[in-house]
Amino acid sequence: MILIENVAVATVDPAGTEHGDGHVVIGDDGRIIAVGSGHAGRYHGSLRRIDGTGCLVTPGLINTHHHLYQWATRGLALNETLFGWLTTLYPIWGRLDAEIVGASAAAGLGWLALSGCTTSTDHHYVFPRDGGDVLAAEIEAAQRIGLRFHPTRGSMDLGQKDGGLPPDNIVEDTDEALAATEAAIDRWHDPSPAAMLQIAVAPCSPFSVTSKLMSEAAVLARRKGVRLHTHLAETDDEEDFCRERFGCTPVEYAERLGWLGEDVWLAHGVHLDDAAIAELGRTGTGVAHCPSSNARLGAGSARVRELLDHAVPVGLGVDGAASQEASHLGGELRQALYTARLRGGPHAMDAREALRLGTMGGARCLGRQRDIGSLEVGKLADLVMWRLDGLGHEGIDDKVAALVLGPAAPVELALVGGRPVVERGELSRADAESLTREARRAHRRLIKDRR
Ligand SMILES: [Zn+2]
Repeated sequence: MILIENVAVATVDPAGTEHGDGHVVIGDDGRIIAVGSGHAGRYHGSLRRIDGTGCLVTPGLINTHHHLYQWATRGLALNETLFGWLTTLYPIWGRLDAEIVGASAAAGLGWLALSGCTTSTDHHYVFPRDGGDVLAAEIEAAQRIGLRFHPTRGSMDLGQKDGGLPPDNIVEDTDEALAATEAAIDRWHDPSPAAMLQIAVAPCSPFSVTSKLMSEAAVLARRKGVRLHTHLAETDDEEDFCRERFGCTPVEYAERLGWLGEDVWLAHGVHLDDAAIAELGRTGTGVAHCPSSNARLGAGSARVRELLDHAVPVGLGVDGAASQEASHLGGELRQALYTARLRGGPHAMDAREALRLGTMGGARCLGRQRDIGSLEVGKLADLVMWRLDGLGHEGIDDKVAALVLGPAAPVELALVGGRPVVERGELSRADAESLTREARRAHRRLIKDRR
Protein backbone atom coordinates (compact mmCIF):
# COMPACT_ATOMS: atom_id res chain seq x y z
CA MET A 1 0.00 0.00 0.00
CA ILE A 2 1.03 3.57 -0.64
CA LEU A 3 -0.27 6.54 1.32
CA ILE A 4 0.40 10.08 0.05
CA GLU A 5 -0.37 12.85 2.54
CA ASN A 6 0.06 16.62 3.04
CA VAL A 7 -0.52 17.15 -0.64
CA ALA A 8 -2.77 19.26 -2.87
CA VAL A 9 -5.02 17.03 -4.98
CA ALA A 10 -6.82 17.77 -8.26
CA THR A 11 -8.97 14.69 -8.84
CA VAL A 12 -10.46 15.66 -12.24
CA ASP A 13 -13.57 13.71 -11.20
CA PRO A 14 -16.91 14.75 -12.79
CA ALA A 15 -17.39 17.51 -10.17
CA GLY A 16 -13.77 18.71 -10.49
CA THR A 17 -13.14 18.03 -6.79
CA GLU A 18 -9.90 19.48 -5.40
CA HIS A 19 -8.29 19.31 -1.95
CA GLY A 20 -5.86 22.01 -0.84
CA ASP A 21 -4.40 19.65 1.74
CA GLY A 22 -5.37 16.06 1.14
CA HIS A 23 -4.39 12.44 0.70
CA VAL A 24 -4.49 9.53 -1.72
CA VAL A 25 -4.30 5.90 -0.59
CA ILE A 26 -3.43 3.09 -3.00
CA GLY A 27 -4.18 -0.56 -2.32
CA ASP A 28 -2.09 -3.62 -3.09
CA ASP A 29 -4.09 -4.21 -6.28
CA GLY A 30 -2.81 -0.91 -7.71
CA ARG A 31 -6.18 0.83 -7.38
CA ILE A 32 -7.15 3.90 -5.37
CA ILE A 33 -8.86 3.03 -2.09
CA ALA A 34 -9.19 6.55 -0.67
CA VAL A 35 -8.83 10.16 -1.82
CA GLY A 36 -9.91 13.18 0.18
CA SER A 37 -9.15 16.14 2.44
CA GLY A 38 -6.88 16.19 5.47
CA HIS A 39 -5.08 13.10 6.76
CA ALA A 40 -5.97 9.59 5.66
CA GLY A 41 -7.54 7.22 8.19
CA ARG A 42 -5.58 4.43 9.84
CA TYR A 43 -4.31 1.63 7.66
CA HIS A 44 -2.72 -1.63 8.74
CA GLY A 45 -0.20 -3.80 6.94
CA SER A 46 2.93 -2.79 5.09
CA LEU A 47 2.60 0.80 4.06
CA ARG A 48 4.82 3.21 2.16
CA ARG A 49 4.07 6.68 3.48
CA ILE A 50 4.92 9.63 1.19
CA ASP A 51 4.95 13.23 2.36
CA GLY A 52 3.65 15.38 -0.49
CA THR A 53 4.38 18.76 1.06
CA GLY A 54 4.88 21.35 -1.69
CA CYS A 55 3.37 19.09 -4.35
CA LEU A 56 0.17 18.67 -6.36
CA VAL A 57 -1.21 15.22 -7.23
CA THR A 58 -3.13 14.87 -10.49
CA PRO A 59 -4.16 11.91 -12.60
CA GLY A 60 -1.28 10.79 -14.83
CA LEU A 61 -1.29 12.49 -18.22
CA ILE A 62 -2.41 10.48 -21.23
CA ASN A 63 -0.68 10.95 -24.56
CA THR A 64 -3.15 10.24 -27.37
CA HIS A 65 -0.92 10.65 -30.43
CA HIS A 66 2.75 9.90 -31.05
CA HIS A 67 5.22 8.32 -33.46
CA LEU A 68 7.97 7.09 -31.17
CA TYR A 69 10.32 6.02 -33.97
CA GLN A 70 10.71 9.70 -34.90
CA TRP A 71 12.95 10.27 -31.87
CA ALA A 72 15.79 9.14 -34.17
CA THR A 73 14.97 11.83 -36.78
CA ARG A 74 14.52 14.95 -34.68
CA GLY A 75 15.80 18.31 -35.88
CA LEU A 76 15.34 17.70 -39.61
CA ALA A 77 13.16 19.44 -42.23
CA LEU A 78 12.95 22.36 -39.85
CA ASN A 79 11.00 24.83 -41.99
CA GLU A 80 8.62 22.67 -44.03
CA THR A 81 4.90 22.13 -44.41
CA LEU A 82 3.61 18.68 -43.44
CA PHE A 83 3.90 17.38 -47.01
CA GLY A 84 7.39 18.84 -47.49
CA TRP A 85 8.46 17.49 -44.11
CA LEU A 86 7.06 14.03 -44.88
CA THR A 87 8.66 13.75 -48.31
CA THR A 88 12.02 14.72 -46.77
CA LEU A 89 11.72 12.10 -44.02
CA TYR A 90 10.00 9.15 -45.73
CA PRO A 91 13.23 7.89 -47.40
CA ILE A 92 15.05 7.99 -44.05
CA TRP A 93 12.22 6.15 -42.29
CA GLY A 94 12.44 3.49 -44.98
CA ARG A 95 15.70 2.39 -43.32
CA LEU A 96 14.18 1.83 -39.85
CA ASP A 97 14.76 -1.46 -38.08
CA ALA A 98 13.79 -2.98 -34.74
CA GLU A 99 16.93 -1.78 -32.95
CA ILE A 100 16.40 1.84 -34.04
CA VAL A 101 12.69 1.74 -33.21
CA GLY A 102 13.35 0.13 -29.83
CA ALA A 103 15.95 2.71 -28.83
CA SER A 104 13.80 5.59 -30.09
CA ALA A 105 10.74 4.28 -28.27
CA ALA A 106 12.60 3.79 -25.00
CA ALA A 107 14.00 7.33 -25.20
CA GLY A 108 10.65 8.83 -26.19
CA LEU A 109 8.69 6.96 -23.51
CA GLY A 110 11.29 7.71 -20.83
CA TRP A 111 11.06 11.39 -21.70
CA LEU A 112 7.26 11.22 -21.67
CA ALA A 113 7.32 9.65 -18.18
CA LEU A 114 9.54 12.48 -16.96
CA SER A 115 7.01 14.94 -18.38
CA GLY A 116 4.13 13.46 -16.34
CA CYS A 117 2.76 10.88 -18.76
CA THR A 118 1.55 7.53 -17.41
CA THR A 119 -0.26 6.19 -20.51
CA SER A 120 0.84 6.68 -24.09
CA THR A 121 -0.35 5.56 -27.43
CA ASP A 122 1.92 5.19 -30.44
CA HIS A 123 1.03 5.35 -34.10
CA HIS A 124 3.53 3.16 -35.91
CA TYR A 125 2.96 2.86 -39.66
CA VAL A 126 6.40 2.23 -41.22
CA PHE A 127 7.28 -1.47 -41.57
CA PRO A 128 10.36 -1.91 -43.79
CA ARG A 129 10.56 -5.43 -45.24
CA ASP A 130 13.93 -6.20 -43.66
CA GLY A 131 13.37 -4.17 -40.50
CA GLY A 132 12.52 -6.99 -38.11
CA ASP A 133 9.71 -6.87 -35.55
CA VAL A 134 9.47 -3.13 -34.93
CA LEU A 135 6.16 -3.36 -33.06
CA ALA A 136 7.61 -5.89 -30.60
CA ALA A 137 10.60 -3.58 -30.13
CA GLU A 138 8.48 -0.65 -29.01
CA ILE A 139 6.32 -2.83 -26.77
CA GLU A 140 9.49 -4.05 -25.02
CA ALA A 141 10.54 -0.41 -24.62
CA ALA A 142 7.25 0.45 -22.91
CA GLN A 143 7.66 -2.50 -20.53
CA ARG A 144 11.16 -1.30 -19.75
CA ILE A 145 9.99 2.21 -18.80
CA GLY A 146 6.79 0.96 -17.12
CA LEU A 147 4.17 3.05 -18.93
CA ARG A 148 0.70 1.84 -19.81
CA PHE A 149 0.89 1.49 -23.57
CA HIS A 150 -1.60 1.66 -26.45
CA PRO A 151 0.47 1.13 -29.60
CA THR A 152 -1.41 1.01 -32.87
CA ARG A 153 -0.64 -1.23 -35.81
CA GLY A 154 -0.52 1.44 -38.49
CA SER A 155 -0.18 0.97 -42.23
CA MET A 156 0.31 2.66 -45.60
CA ASP A 157 -0.64 1.11 -48.96
CA LEU A 158 -0.98 4.15 -51.27
CA GLY A 159 2.44 4.87 -52.78
CA GLN A 160 3.47 7.50 -55.30
CA LYS A 161 2.77 5.32 -58.32
CA ASP A 162 -0.90 5.19 -57.26
CA GLY A 163 -1.17 8.92 -56.51
CA GLY A 164 -0.18 8.79 -52.82
CA LEU A 165 2.52 10.79 -51.04
CA PRO A 166 4.94 8.14 -49.68
CA PRO A 167 7.54 6.45 -51.90
CA ASP A 168 6.49 3.02 -53.14
CA ASN A 169 9.21 1.17 -51.23
CA ILE A 170 7.76 2.00 -47.80
CA VAL A 171 4.13 1.08 -48.42
CA GLU A 172 2.69 -2.39 -47.81
CA ASP A 173 0.35 -4.59 -49.79
CA THR A 174 -3.24 -3.97 -48.60
CA ASP A 175 -4.05 -7.55 -47.62
CA GLU A 176 -0.66 -8.09 -45.98
CA ALA A 177 -1.15 -4.97 -43.88
CA LEU A 178 -4.58 -6.15 -42.75
CA ALA A 179 -3.28 -9.64 -41.93
CA ALA A 180 -0.35 -8.22 -39.95
CA THR A 181 -2.73 -5.92 -38.07
CA GLU A 182 -4.97 -8.83 -37.11
CA ALA A 183 -1.93 -10.84 -36.01
CA ALA A 184 -0.77 -7.95 -33.81
CA ILE A 185 -4.17 -7.78 -32.10
CA ASP A 186 -4.19 -11.54 -31.53
CA ARG A 187 -0.66 -11.49 -30.14
CA TRP A 188 -0.71 -8.40 -27.96
CA HIS A 189 -4.15 -6.92 -27.20
CA ASP A 190 -5.28 -7.27 -23.58
CA PRO A 191 -8.98 -6.32 -23.16
CA SER A 192 -8.94 -6.54 -19.34
CA PRO A 193 -9.79 -3.42 -17.26
CA ALA A 194 -6.26 -3.13 -15.83
CA ALA A 195 -4.56 -3.79 -19.18
CA MET A 196 -1.02 -2.44 -19.58
CA LEU A 197 -1.12 -3.12 -23.33
CA GLN A 198 -3.87 -2.55 -25.87
CA ILE A 199 -3.63 -2.47 -29.66
CA ALA A 200 -5.60 -0.21 -32.00
CA VAL A 201 -5.93 -0.31 -35.79
CA ALA A 202 -4.44 2.74 -37.50
CA PRO A 203 -4.07 3.21 -41.28
CA CYS A 204 -1.97 6.35 -41.56
CA SER A 205 -3.81 9.12 -43.44
CA PRO A 206 -6.03 9.81 -46.50
CA PHE A 207 -2.99 10.58 -48.68
CA SER A 208 -1.04 7.40 -47.81
CA VAL A 209 -3.79 4.77 -47.53
CA THR A 210 -6.33 3.40 -50.02
CA SER A 211 -10.06 3.61 -49.36
CA LYS A 212 -10.11 -0.19 -49.38
CA LEU A 213 -7.61 -0.43 -46.53
CA MET A 214 -9.46 2.25 -44.55
CA SER A 215 -12.86 0.57 -44.82
CA GLU A 216 -11.56 -2.97 -44.26
CA ALA A 217 -9.52 -1.79 -41.27
CA ALA A 218 -12.73 -0.46 -39.72
CA VAL A 219 -14.44 -3.81 -40.26
CA LEU A 220 -11.44 -5.64 -38.76
CA ALA A 221 -11.30 -3.40 -35.67
CA ARG A 222 -15.01 -3.87 -34.98
CA ARG A 223 -14.80 -7.62 -35.46
CA LYS A 224 -11.95 -7.71 -32.94
CA GLY A 225 -13.41 -5.16 -30.50
CA VAL A 226 -10.43 -2.78 -30.68
CA ARG A 227 -10.27 0.94 -31.43
CA LEU A 228 -9.51 2.88 -34.62
CA HIS A 229 -7.07 5.73 -35.06
CA THR A 230 -5.81 7.79 -38.00
CA HIS A 231 -4.63 11.27 -38.98
CA LEU A 232 -7.46 13.49 -40.23
CA ALA A 233 -7.94 17.14 -41.19
CA GLU A 234 -4.39 18.12 -40.26
CA THR A 235 -3.55 20.54 -43.09
CA ASP A 236 -5.01 22.48 -46.03
CA ASP A 237 -2.96 20.23 -48.36
CA GLU A 238 -4.81 17.18 -47.03
CA GLU A 239 -8.17 18.88 -47.53
CA ASP A 240 -7.19 19.75 -51.14
CA PHE A 241 -6.12 16.13 -51.68
CA CYS A 242 -9.49 14.82 -50.40
CA ARG A 243 -11.52 17.28 -52.46
CA GLU A 244 -9.60 16.47 -55.65
CA ARG A 245 -9.47 12.71 -55.21
CA PHE A 246 -12.70 11.95 -53.36
CA GLY A 247 -14.81 15.08 -53.97
CA CYS A 248 -15.45 15.69 -50.28
CA THR A 249 -13.94 16.95 -47.03
CA PRO A 250 -11.79 14.64 -44.86
CA VAL A 251 -14.61 14.13 -42.32
CA GLU A 252 -17.11 13.32 -45.09
CA TYR A 253 -14.57 10.84 -46.44
CA ALA A 254 -14.16 9.26 -42.99
CA GLU A 255 -17.93 9.02 -42.60
CA ARG A 256 -18.23 7.30 -45.98
CA LEU A 257 -15.67 4.67 -44.93
CA GLY A 258 -17.26 3.84 -41.57
CA TRP A 259 -14.65 5.82 -39.69
CA LEU A 260 -16.80 7.87 -37.30
CA GLY A 261 -17.96 6.54 -33.94
CA GLU A 262 -17.23 6.21 -30.24
CA ASP A 263 -14.50 3.67 -31.00
CA VAL A 264 -12.54 6.11 -33.21
CA TRP A 265 -10.14 8.88 -32.26
CA LEU A 266 -8.58 11.11 -34.91
CA ALA A 267 -5.24 12.87 -34.71
CA HIS A 268 -5.35 16.67 -35.20
CA GLY A 269 -8.80 17.70 -36.48
CA VAL A 270 -7.40 21.14 -37.28
CA HIS A 271 -9.34 21.99 -40.44
CA LEU A 272 -12.94 21.27 -39.50
CA ASP A 273 -15.99 23.24 -40.61
CA ASP A 274 -19.11 23.59 -38.44
CA ALA A 275 -20.77 20.57 -40.03
CA ALA A 276 -17.73 18.38 -39.38
CA ILE A 277 -17.55 19.42 -35.72
CA ALA A 278 -21.25 18.69 -35.27
CA GLU A 279 -20.79 15.28 -36.91
CA LEU A 280 -17.87 14.37 -34.62
CA GLY A 281 -20.00 15.38 -31.64
CA ARG A 282 -23.05 13.45 -32.84
CA THR A 283 -21.02 10.28 -33.39
CA GLY A 284 -18.81 10.61 -30.28
CA THR A 285 -15.64 10.49 -32.40
CA GLY A 286 -12.58 11.61 -30.41
CA VAL A 287 -9.82 14.04 -31.37
CA ALA A 288 -6.16 13.92 -30.32
CA HIS A 289 -5.24 17.62 -30.12
CA CYS A 290 -1.51 18.20 -30.80
CA PRO A 291 -1.07 21.97 -30.49
CA SER A 292 2.76 22.10 -30.46
CA SER A 293 3.12 19.85 -33.50
CA ASN A 294 0.50 21.88 -35.36
CA ALA A 295 2.49 25.02 -34.52
CA ARG A 296 5.87 23.47 -35.47
CA LEU A 297 4.54 22.52 -38.92
CA GLY A 298 2.51 25.73 -39.26
CA ALA A 299 -0.53 23.52 -39.90
CA GLY A 300 -3.07 25.71 -38.12
CA SER A 301 -4.83 25.58 -34.78
CA ALA A 302 -7.68 23.23 -33.92
CA ARG A 303 -11.10 24.63 -32.96
CA VAL A 304 -10.95 22.99 -29.55
CA ARG A 305 -13.51 25.27 -27.87
CA GLU A 306 -16.08 24.37 -30.51
CA LEU A 307 -15.18 20.67 -30.30
CA LEU A 308 -15.70 20.69 -26.53
CA ASP A 309 -18.96 22.62 -26.87
CA HIS A 310 -20.17 19.80 -29.15
CA ALA A 311 -19.18 17.18 -26.53
CA VAL A 312 -16.38 15.76 -28.70
CA PRO A 313 -13.90 13.74 -26.56
CA VAL A 314 -10.62 15.69 -26.88
CA GLY A 315 -7.29 14.40 -25.59
CA LEU A 316 -3.77 15.83 -25.90
CA GLY A 317 -0.90 14.44 -27.92
CA VAL A 318 2.72 15.42 -28.33
CA ASP A 319 2.77 13.89 -31.85
CA GLY A 320 6.00 12.47 -33.27
CA ALA A 321 9.26 13.90 -31.98
CA ALA A 322 10.36 14.86 -35.50
CA SER A 323 7.52 17.38 -35.76
CA GLN A 324 7.69 18.47 -32.11
CA GLU A 325 11.17 18.12 -30.69
CA ALA A 326 10.09 19.04 -27.14
CA SER A 327 7.67 16.08 -26.85
CA HIS A 328 6.84 17.20 -23.30
CA LEU A 329 3.29 16.22 -22.42
CA GLY A 330 3.15 18.44 -19.32
CA GLY A 331 4.03 21.34 -21.61
CA GLU A 332 1.09 20.53 -23.89
CA LEU A 333 -1.30 21.56 -21.09
CA ARG A 334 -0.08 25.13 -21.43
CA GLN A 335 0.18 24.97 -25.20
CA ALA A 336 -3.43 23.75 -25.44
CA LEU A 337 -4.60 26.63 -23.25
CA TYR A 338 -2.56 29.17 -25.23
CA THR A 339 -3.80 27.84 -28.55
CA ALA A 340 -7.44 27.99 -27.42
CA ARG A 341 -7.00 31.55 -26.12
CA LEU A 342 -5.19 32.76 -29.23
CA ARG A 343 -8.22 31.62 -31.20
CA GLY A 344 -11.03 32.52 -28.82
CA GLY A 345 -9.84 34.97 -26.16
CA PRO A 346 -9.19 34.54 -22.43
CA HIS A 347 -12.39 32.62 -21.69
CA ALA A 348 -11.81 29.98 -24.38
CA MET A 349 -10.10 27.60 -21.95
CA ASP A 350 -9.01 27.66 -18.31
CA ALA A 351 -6.26 25.72 -16.55
CA ARG A 352 -8.64 23.08 -15.20
CA GLU A 353 -10.08 22.40 -18.61
CA ALA A 354 -6.55 21.99 -20.01
CA LEU A 355 -5.79 19.47 -17.25
CA ARG A 356 -9.04 17.65 -18.04
CA LEU A 357 -8.03 17.34 -21.72
CA GLY A 358 -4.68 15.84 -20.71
CA THR A 359 -6.29 13.28 -18.36
CA MET A 360 -9.99 12.35 -18.71
CA GLY A 361 -10.13 13.60 -22.29
CA GLY A 362 -7.30 11.24 -23.21
CA ALA A 363 -8.88 8.35 -21.28
CA ARG A 364 -12.09 8.80 -23.30
CA CYS A 365 -10.15 8.83 -26.59
CA LEU A 366 -8.56 5.50 -25.65
CA GLY A 367 -11.77 4.01 -24.22
CA ARG A 368 -10.20 3.72 -20.74
CA GLN A 369 -12.38 6.27 -18.90
CA ARG A 370 -13.72 3.67 -16.46
CA ASP A 371 -10.22 2.84 -15.19
CA ILE A 372 -7.90 5.82 -15.66
CA GLY A 373 -8.04 9.61 -16.22
CA SER A 374 -9.22 10.75 -12.78
CA LEU A 375 -8.44 10.08 -9.11
CA GLU A 376 -11.50 8.27 -7.82
CA VAL A 377 -11.93 5.30 -5.49
CA GLY A 378 -11.74 2.07 -7.48
CA LYS A 379 -9.77 3.52 -10.39
CA LEU A 380 -6.22 2.47 -11.24
CA ALA A 381 -3.56 4.46 -9.37
CA ASP A 382 -2.06 6.18 -12.41
CA LEU A 383 -1.05 9.50 -10.92
CA VAL A 384 1.63 12.17 -10.91
CA MET A 385 2.88 14.21 -7.97
CA TRP A 386 4.28 17.47 -9.34
CA ARG A 387 6.76 19.50 -7.26
CA LEU A 388 5.52 23.10 -7.13
CA ASP A 389 7.55 24.65 -4.29
CA GLY A 390 10.71 25.45 -6.24
CA LEU A 391 11.86 28.71 -7.79
CA GLY A 392 9.67 28.34 -10.86
CA HIS A 393 6.33 27.84 -9.08
CA GLU A 394 6.46 29.00 -5.46
CA GLY A 395 4.06 31.88 -4.86
CA ILE A 396 1.43 30.77 -7.37
CA ASP A 397 -1.22 29.80 -4.81
CA ASP A 398 -3.58 28.17 -7.30
CA LYS A 399 -1.72 24.88 -7.77
CA VAL A 400 -3.50 23.86 -10.95
CA ALA A 401 -2.69 27.26 -12.46
CA ALA A 402 0.94 26.81 -11.32
CA LEU A 403 1.10 23.45 -13.09
CA VAL A 404 -0.53 24.57 -16.33
CA LEU A 405 0.70 28.16 -16.68
CA GLY A 406 4.03 27.88 -14.89
CA PRO A 407 7.22 26.38 -16.31
CA ALA A 408 7.42 22.60 -16.83
CA ALA A 409 7.05 21.20 -13.32
CA PRO A 410 9.43 18.52 -11.99
CA VAL A 411 7.78 15.12 -11.46
CA GLU A 412 8.39 14.08 -7.85
CA LEU A 413 6.55 10.79 -8.28
CA ALA A 414 4.68 9.06 -11.09
CA LEU A 415 2.79 5.83 -10.49
CA VAL A 416 1.27 3.45 -13.04
CA GLY A 417 -1.16 1.07 -11.35
CA GLY A 418 0.53 1.98 -8.07
CA ARG A 419 4.03 1.11 -9.36
CA PRO A 420 6.59 3.92 -9.49
CA VAL A 421 7.93 4.90 -12.92
CA VAL A 422 9.45 8.24 -11.83
CA GLU A 423 10.79 9.17 -8.38
CA ARG A 424 12.43 12.50 -7.48
CA GLY A 425 12.68 13.50 -11.11
CA GLU A 426 14.45 10.27 -12.20
CA LEU A 427 13.16 7.23 -14.03
CA SER A 428 12.61 4.39 -11.56
CA ARG A 429 13.26 1.42 -13.85
CA ALA A 430 15.62 2.67 -16.55
CA ASP A 431 18.43 5.16 -16.47
CA ALA A 432 18.33 8.21 -18.67
CA GLU A 433 22.03 7.95 -19.55
CA SER A 434 21.60 4.50 -21.13
CA LEU A 435 18.51 5.68 -23.00
CA THR A 436 20.43 8.68 -24.31
CA ARG A 437 23.37 6.54 -25.40
CA GLU A 438 21.11 4.06 -27.21
CA ALA A 439 19.16 6.88 -28.87
CA ARG A 440 22.40 8.52 -30.02
CA ARG A 441 23.52 5.25 -31.58
CA ALA A 442 20.13 4.81 -33.30
CA HIS A 443 20.26 8.35 -34.70
CA ARG A 444 23.82 7.83 -35.95
CA ARG A 445 23.00 4.51 -37.58
CA LEU A 446 19.96 6.00 -39.32
CA ILE A 447 21.30 9.41 -40.36
CA LYS A 448 24.93 10.25 -39.78
CA ASP A 449 26.58 7.04 -40.91
CA ARG A 450 24.62 7.28 -44.17
CA ARG A 451 25.78 10.76 -45.13
ZN1 LIG B 1 1.03 12.13 -36.31
